[in-house]
Amino acid sequence: MDKLSLLTWLEDATAENVSFGQYCLQTQAAELEIEESALLQRMKESLSVMRNAIDFGLTGVRSTGGLVGGSGLRLKNWHEGSDLRKKLLGALSAKAATYALAANEANAAMGRICAAPTAGSSGVLPGVLFAIAEECSIAEDRLGLALVAAGSIGMVIASRASLSGAEGGCQAECGSAAAMAAGAAVDLLGGSPDQVGHAVALALKNLLGLVCDPVAGLVEVPCVKRNAGAAMIALLAAEMALAGIESAIPVDEVMDAMAEIGHALPETLRETGQGGLAGTPTGRAYKERIFGSRNHLEE
Ligand code: SF4
Repeated sequence: MDKLSLLTWLEDATAENVSFGQYCLQTQAAELEIEESALLQRMKESLSVMRNAIDFGLTGVRSTGGLVGGSGLRLKNWHEGSDLRKKLLGALSAKAATYALAANEANAAMGRICAAPTAGSSGVLPGVLFAIAEECSIAEDRLGLALVAAGSIGMVIASRASLSGAEGGCQAECGSAAAMAAGAAVDLLGGSPDQVGHAVALALKNLLGLVCDPVAGLVEVPCVKRNAGAAMIALLAAEMALAGIESAIPVDEVMDAMAEIGHALPETLRETGQGGLAGTPTGRAYKERIFGSRNHLEE
């Protein structure tokens, strides 16, 4: 795939005096040779899948491997009922973390999810987008445009670096999801194309080097809780960008650095389930417990 340039798209949107989301809608619809309304309809369907994944996760589902489940529901209950002095996150952040956990727990429980950009990182965008929509009173219809923007950001990352944990580590999955969500959040809140670019860069920079080390090779630990963390970084990056804080390194170059780092990661830290958390004594014990017992049952 030829390298795309987010900077070029951002400059084009600025020159055309349209939001980044609007620019992406025009260009992507033209590229796909469909009406803009048809593209928005597709986004609406994806958003519906995301919403259902959150709701499914919030029922307290357990994962197939048995390592995760119920965290989204737990955080929701904690925030609804706990002592005010013990709530560290504000309402929007807490909701984003709750939804990110729940949507990714739905994935771990084999529920239907929207892989944006991947199944392992599928909680970040729903968490950020639905929390903002609810807490900032933004109509869910407007989320479609934000999702087009997010998808366009993901396309550029895929062309310059990777969206695959096996290729680039978790920076490519949760990092990319955070970047997509940060850019989409800025666009959703009326930020300029330039601010979208800074939000993407700031989110990615905070997750560069993140390794892929799933315990027992299952997309459960640390994936689910990492989705909540990536959602928090996305919100922080978006807020910094909206406040006028800029990335010193241009966004395209940040993506190129991400590609370089991904290539430098050893294979044990690229979805093989061997190194990092997967290689800890406890990680290995979980693997033995899950697959050892299964092997025993099959004998
Ligand atoms: S740790 Fe690996 S499998 Fe889990 S979300 Fe990150 S990239 Fe995906």
